[in-house]
Amino acid sequence: MPGKSKVIVIGAGVGGLATAARLAAKGKSVTVLEQANHFGGKLAAYRRDGFVFDTGPSLFTLPAVYRDLFLKTGAPLEEAIDLQPLDPAFRYQFSDGATVVMPGVGAGQCADALAAGIGGKAAEEWRTLIKRGGEMWQITREPFLQSPLAGWRNILALAKNPSHVQTVAPFMTLRSLGEKTFSDKRLVTLLDRYATYTGSDPRKAPAVLATVPYVEQTFGTWHIGGGVSSLADALVQRCRDLGVELHTNTNVTSISTTGNEVTGVRTGDGEAFMADIVVANADAGQVYGSLLNDAGAQEAMKGIRKSTPSLAGFVLLLAVNDRTQDLKHHNVWFTEDYDAEFDAIFGRNIAPVSDPTIYVCAPRDPLMSPDADHESWSVLVNAPRHGDGTNGTVNWDEPGLAEQYADHVLGVLARRGMDIRPKIRWREIRTPADLERDVRAPGGAIYGTSSNGARAAFARPANESPVGGLYLVGGSSHPGGGLPLVGMSAEIVANLINGTNRD
Ligand SMILES: Cc1cc2nc3c(=O)[nH]c(=O)nc-3n(C[C@H](O)[C@H](O)[C@H](O)COP(=O)(O)OP(=O)(O)OC[C@H]3O[C@@H](n4cnc5c(N)ncnc54)[C@H](O)[C@@H]3O)c2cc1C
Repeated sequence: MPGKSKVIVIGAGVGGLATAARLAAKGKSVTVLEQANHFGGKLAAYRRDGFVFDTGPSLFTLPAVYRDLFLKTGAPLEEAIDLQPLDPAFRYQFSDGATVVMPGVGAGQCADALAAGIGGKAAEEWRTLIKRGGEMWQITREPFLQSPLAGWRNILALAKNPSHVQTVAPFMTLRSLGEKTFSDKRLVTLLDRYATYTGSDPRKAPAVLATVPYVEQTFGTWHIGGGVSSLADALVQRCRDLGVELHTNTNVTSISTTGNEVTGVRTGDGEAFMADIVVANADAGQVYGSLLNDAGAQEAMKGIRKSTPSLAGFVLLLAVNDRTQDLKHHNVWFTEDYDAEFDAIFGRNIAPVSDPTIYVCAPRDPLMSPDADHESWSVLVNAPRHGDGTNGTVNWDEPGLAEQYADHVLGVLARRGMDIRPKIRWREIRTPADLERDVRAPGGAIYGTSSNGARAAFARPANESPVGGLYLVGGSSHPGGGLPLVGMSAEIVANLINGTNRD
């Protein structure tokens, strides 16, 4: 169509697909180039013998972000996916054996569940925390999370209102907030876990991450029928309905520019795609480190090198015979020593975590197991990134390591009272090295860069690059990783390109 601006999106992760749909709905001609043999990036599934596993996201929160996207691109989210509220949502087991069964929504009910599980002042103290998280959310949502990154201007805007500064406490860590709010160490542990939802260490991540439990417990915890990865299928379908051209197995090797303006991309097989606008959903480190040959890119790379990468994940997919008692949709068995876990990932003793917190997602979803007598377990433990074993990495490709560590994790789970080993029909292992190979996530980092440090959120790569017409979207850019934030990232980018504010 003459005059129609041509957009290339590099990568069909959630950020790329969501941006493509938003731009196509506004009349842009969009082509998505994906290097892998599947769409969805980290949002993916593994299927075998009637067992279906989410290999990436299994927890879906803040569906409002995707409701907005689907509504504005054609038809409501609920028509595209089978959105199911979870209740209960989580079973938490602490190292002393105390358990809490958490409702799927309602901060007050969650507080009561904590009181029932661990007693003491848990209910009132959790309410205090969630109230603070809610205040932080009101202050930061629109001006920061849903707006383009404006560097120090974001901080100055916050600094104008002393009561906002006091509430957000930009220099307080999540751990400090927990210790200040809770008299029970188990609640500190529970709050610590939310730092890992952004790939971070609670001893370094900012207190404002208290917004994460606020959002989860206020807006609910959701499953998607058939698996959370069905969201990727729905996004692909929406893109197709809007005329977006989608290609798999197409590796972008460089971004072309003239002067300081983007002109297109080149792929591994030498093909050139011309474009007025390029949206990079590939990791920001790859964009500035290898795809773009430009002085601005080198400058941006300096910032990325200074930040701490997000933690990675060791994933076990278990086809389980039988139904397991006392299991909820999401299950967490906490370690006794969270500090040792974070030290193994970020700090002093880099190694696969010896006594990890173990997360199991075992959906009671008929579309995800062959029959009612079997279960599909996605097991996830936090892990150091993949590399050559130096600079804070572990070589996850070392022969035997993955199998040994999988046995170890199952042994730890057994010691915590859940010995699933006799019921495992077969298992699949996904190490950080596998994730790196599949979707080019550097080191297998789950969320791009972590939120470690008070400045981390403001130092993320911005959505607008130094090159005219080149934009960054997704977990490695502003405002960060996880499905809700990646969806917000896509909205920001689409608005920047369409020259609109939030519509
Ligand atoms: C194990 C695991 C568990 C998770 N759990 C949750 C959860 O429960 N809830 C939640 O909200 N989030 C979770 N996340 C995080 C969530 O998956 C991500 O934040 C989100 O999916 C990232 O989307 P994205 O668009 O930023 O990028 P990605 O999914 O990384 O997509 C980027 C795409 O770009 C492609 N690409 C890269 N380079 C090129 C190139 N040169 N040419 C062409 N294509 C290229 C990649 O192949 C990929 O498809 C989890 C992630 C993992 C790995």
